Amino acid sequence: MPASAPRPWIVMKFGGTSVAAPDRWRVIADIARARLDAGERVMIVHSAIAGVSNLLEALPAAALAGAGEAAAEAVKARHREFAAAAGLDADALLAGIFDLIDRRTAGIGYSGEASARLRAELMAQGELMASTLGVECLKAAGLDPVFLDARDALTALNNADEARAWLDNGAGEDADPALQKRLSGADLVLTQGFIARHATGATVLLGRGGSDTSAAYFAARLQAARLEIWTDVPGLFSADPRLTEGARHLRALSYEEAQEIATMGGKVLHPRCIGPARRAGIPMEVRSTLRPELAGTRITGAPGDDAPRLKAVSVKTGVRLVVMEGAGMWRQAGFLADVFAGFKACGVSVDLVSTSETNVTVSLDPDPGLDQARLDRLRETLAPLCRVKIIEDAAAVSLLGYGIRRILHQLAPALEMFQDKPIRLVSQAANDLNFTVVVDESEGAALAKRLHEELISTAPEGAVFGQSWAELARPGAARPARAAPWWTDKRGALLDLAPQTGGLYVYDLETVSARARAVAGIKTLSRAFYAMKANAHRDVLRAIRAAGLGFECVSPGEIARVRETFADIRPDEVLFTPNFAHRSEYEAAVAFGAHLTIDGLHPLTHWPDVFQGADVILRVNPDRPRGHHQHVKTAGPKAKFGIPLDALNDARAAADAAGARVIGLHAHAGSGVTDADHWREIGAILARAARNFPDVRILNCGGGLGVPESPDAPALDLLRVDEELALLKKAHPRFELWMEPGRYPVAEAGVLLARVTQVKHAFGTRFIGLGTGMNSLIRPALYGARHEIVNLTRLGEPGAGMASVVGPICESADLLGADRLLPETHEGDVMLIAETGAYGAVMASRYNLREPAGEAVI
Ligand code: ASP
Ligand code: MG
Repeated sequence: MPASAPRPWIVMKFGGTSVAAPDRWRVIADIARARLDAGERVMIVHSAIAGVSNLLEALPAAALAGAGEAAAEAVKARHREFAAAAGLDADALLAGIFDLIDRRTAGIGYSGEASARLRAELMAQGELMASTLGVECLKAAGLDPVFLDARDALTALNNADEARAWLDNGAGEDADPALQKRLSGADLVLTQGFIARHATGATVLLGRGGSDTSAAYFAARLQAARLEIWTDVPGLFSADPRLTEGARHLRALSYEEAQEIATMGGKVLHPRCIGPARRAGIPMEVRSTLRPELAGTRITGAPGDDAPRLKAVSVKTGVRLVVMEGAGMWRQAGFLADVFAGFKACGVSVDLVSTSETNVTVSLDPDPGLDQARLDRLRETLAPLCRVKIIEDAAAVSLLGYGIRRILHQLAPALEMFQDKPIRLVSQAANDLNFTVVVDESEGAALAKRLHEELISTAPEGAVFGQSWAELARPGAARPARAAPWWTDKRGALLDLAPQTGGLYVYDLETVSARARAVAGIKTLSRAFYAMKANAHRDVLRAIRAAGLGFECVSPGEIARVRETFADIRPDEVLFTPNFAHRSEYEAAVAFGAHLTIDGLHPLTHWPDVFQGADVILRVNPDRPRGHHQHVKTAGPKAKFGIPLDALNDARAAADAAGARVIGLHAHAGSGVTDADHWREIGAILARAARNFPDVRILNCGGGLGVPESPDAPALDLLRVDEELALLKKAHPRFELWMEPGRYPVAEAGVLLARVTQVKHAFGTRFIGLGTGMNSLIRPALYGARHEIVNLTRLGEPGAGMASVVGPICESADLLGADRLLPETHEGDVMLIAETGAYGAVMASRYNLREPAGEAVI
């Protein structure tokens, strides 16, 4: 009897969110069981529990700062939490790994060093812990997995660069008969992504996000019939959904197109995972564990559509340009060879290239390993060949799709916005899949959005494009929903308040109180001062003060507002932090007795008498810009705020000479930050700077606590902020910690209401006009900010296609939101623009001599 063909292998990769809780593993078990029932064999390759790799990556730094124990505890706590939910005993199952983490952490603390090899070993524990727990979950679901330590199957390549060898390596992808034989008796195998073994036997990593790559290696080695990448989104999209909710689901792509999208900054697939699948001819599918019923994106050699077509727009920020100029290059054989040899010698990888007779410009991808020292070395190496200029803060906007050359003419209207803004580099890829322009970072997102709107948003559904992100996300009952916003409960009252013409801001005082209390509840903080520039409405200020917050004021007007509102205000409740203010403003603040922040040398050196005998706080520029838009980054070499770290000694001398006492240091790096460790990092920088300041007892870590821009965006967890600050406090107990949140307490508490004036259909777009626009709310135009917009009158009615929501101001930028899924909408409907409690009314203007929205509280 002829042996029947062996049953095909399906390799499935599950990412961090897909393995983050026992109920997620039940979904994995169901997906695996369906494949087994269909006669296929299954290998599961998975990541560490979401967030754990980050915790492990940060462990060495914490250990070096003397806070290793607490940081290791956080890793363990995350797994105990998982285990508890699964009815498992983490301390028993993971005893060996917990012990290893403790010993390594302590070792780093003693020795004061952490080699790349050691870091790799530590981070690998994330995948190994998840695997140990995962086996139990699969067993509990009635499956019988074979456990494979991925390091016993994947041997890392040789790599000369020490850091790359340990942390960012690759492995072989040839068919592996030995592995096939070893697993021949197995139906279901569970193994880890991200980790492999060095020739010496030690553990090696495949780069952050490298579990996808592991899965591709395994698929190639097993000659699998399919590689499935399971993540938390149902495939690849025509744009990052955070850029536009009109981003369209991509149903089918070629390997080459998927490679371009992944490489150009799509975060869904690791760029390195496509090559092995392509070379082995293994079809890939990208699917969502949150919506397993959706078909996902299929990636193959022949996606069955060969018309030239634009498929995606991407924007990559943090790009650098190296501009090389010189007469010497004209008709010089070997000039480019010499230049590129210089890049090679300095270990700098080049992305795009454009050349002219006297100028060669290249772009460099954002790379945390590319530090100032390396750039300086590059500059020196190139100096004998040409003049070198390095431009920071550029963004690369790319159009991707097969046959891009033949559709360039369609771009013309969208490129109009560059009439008065420079395009710094244009590159059309040799493979005809990619056309990229490099522009200033602040223009990148706007350009990408515009191109997407003009070229993709309204394309019909078919073999290539599926539904939009908004359409897929909204009906998603399986998507973890945030609590319904307050304005759904108070809809009736809001509809009654909505004015017939113009607009009205409405603030929900219960929400203000709740958010302000949450800030006041950050236990490690000694004081929090509300940055009242965000919203200075008197009732809002009352709610804030009742929650126990002080006020951060930036002008005499704001101080006056506080003093008028509260007859009994104590000077100690006010923190005055002006920027480039007139001398008289400082005099008034000192006379009043407010806490005072000085953010430059000029006041101290030119008006020493003002500060004689005063206690002052110095604002430092931590040289580490953060924030959701260029204009809200308030640190770094381009920001006008703060004293550079290297000028602090001069500032102290000036303060001493003036007879002032420096009792605090302050930094605020930008707003819209959602990484919980940000304020600890700022605090650590301040603590280091405070070494030369014997009287400093206050570290003000600034504000900028982010508020999510859409229901699916990551939200900041204040408990995590507190945990991080506690690490700081533990390392530096002598300081009190302060913060000064502005947007956080008020943004979600405010909505802007306006009625629909007109609806227009033009060039395939539905425009919905409102009674007010950028004269009331300038954030979309100024920052490219995204605000949720709903038709309050028809709340809950199904979407009737995408729309652009605009105001009545005579400016093209009077666009409150583009590409929004909205129901059938009519003149007179009340529209609600959410999360406008911060920097809404306070930034309004009378432009066009239209009165901006009024204000009311509820
Ligand atoms: N856990 C690793 C990381 O977060 C690998 C992965 O998730 O793909 O980078
Ligand atoms: Mg990933």
